[in-house]
Amino acid sequence: MTFQAPKGVPEFWPPRSATLTAVRTAFADAAERAGYGYIEVPVFEETQLFARGVGESTDVVSKEMYTFEDRGGRSLTLRPEFTAGVLRSVLEHNLHTGQLPVKLWTTGPAFRYERPQAGRYRQFQQFDLEAIGTEDPTVDAETIAIAWDGYQALGLSRVRLLLNTLGCKECRPLYRAALQDFLRALDLDEATRQRAEINPLRVLDDKRPEVRAKVDAAPLITDHLCASCKAHHDQVRELLADLSIPWEDTPRLVRGLDYYTRTTYEFDHPMLGAQSGIGGGGRYDGLSEDIGGPPLPGIGFAVGVDRIILAVEAEHGPGAAGQARCEVYGVPLGERAARAVFGLVTELRRAGVAADMAFGGKGLKGAMKGADRSGAAFAVILGERDLAAGSAQVKTLETGEQSEVPLTEIVMKLKERLGK
Ligand code: AMP
Repeated sequence: MTFQAPKGVPEFWPPRSATLTAVRTAFADAAERAGYGYIEVPVFEETQLFARGVGESTDVVSKEMYTFEDRGGRSLTLRPEFTAGVLRSVLEHNLHTGQLPVKLWTTGPAFRYERPQAGRYRQFQQFDLEAIGTEDPTVDAETIAIAWDGYQALGLSRVRLLLNTLGCKECRPLYRAALQDFLRALDLDEATRQRAEINPLRVLDDKRPEVRAKVDAAPLITDHLCASCKAHHDQVRELLADLSIPWEDTPRLVRGLDYYTRTTYEFDHPMLGAQSGIGGGGRYDGLSEDIGGPPLPGIGFAVGVDRIILAVEAEHGPGAAGQARCEVYGVPLGERAARAVFGLVTELRRAGVAADMAFGGKGLKGAMKGADRSGAAFAVILGERDLAAGSAQVKTLETGEQSEVPLTEIVMKLKERLGK
């Protein structure tokens, strides 16, 4: 009997996994430079946290959660997203009683029971960033700038930023009512009618052309904003302009999670086909209260690491992030030499040189093939006679040129030739 990974779960192995780590590093570096610290949160939480945080009527909660009962009879759910868990942790450990905003990032798998297809998985990797405890629109712009810099660091030149606002608890209900009036007057199918009653904003997000055409003249949130939401939105846009970050105003943009207020945004990559969303975020000023906390505004984003890998490959070809580099490759001939080469390779690694060697008593030919494949600049060949003479042969793999170097000097000489 053989086993396979569960359906809809992508796996990553070398060399492609280097792109995965490069994506995480690009966003983590951008976040750390901006004063965000790493938080480790659980992969599963109490089911109610997501039901109340993300919203019962969302697809994520009503259809897509991996929920199970543990042996103690508790209902637990594998996280379908990070924000609710991060905020729960901040509140539980009183991080919000110190300096605000609390700036945090995290990364890892999230789980949604979706129909698997290219770019849509049941276990997918996100990088998540949250700034909790301020309403300052500068922080909205800061989160966008960090995501933008992450994409830029990966060489993604075709990312589009779609920007909207969803208003606040003052103006959104008025807009919602106006939108509902408009939708009730349309000839819509039963399921869409029901959606218009429960969550009318979601109807604007319908991908079917016939529905799109009908809602074309729907009222827009941007025409119904209260003065403070309008001022907030204008400030975010001015700040983005100051930073030369291009965006597209998209007044129909709504997001799949219920907690968003005011600033909302998505990042899109045009080469990815149907699953083109490579990140999304926004404000969630009411979420803390929804999950039993004090009033505490917040904003954050999650980017989809799996899809960003596809975008990097689409723009730059597979393997663009490069393999794990090897600089020096050890070629031992005989058992005693293998022991000495292992010692040398370890010494090189400790001196900051990426080094590997041939294992398993390979002959010269097989071991040299390994050296070529490794991408190393130098091979260190050591036979019985070299060992007796206290030296090794250092071969420059590109030119084939070879010279004898005393073992006592070899680490220093190799570092020198590698420019270290
Ligand atoms: P969301 O939490 O729905 O706002 O999603 C944020 C980002 O995560 C999206 O823009 C996608 O890039 C990614 N994402 C969400 N769901 C999936 C999925 N099922 N498979 C792969 N990536 C996903």
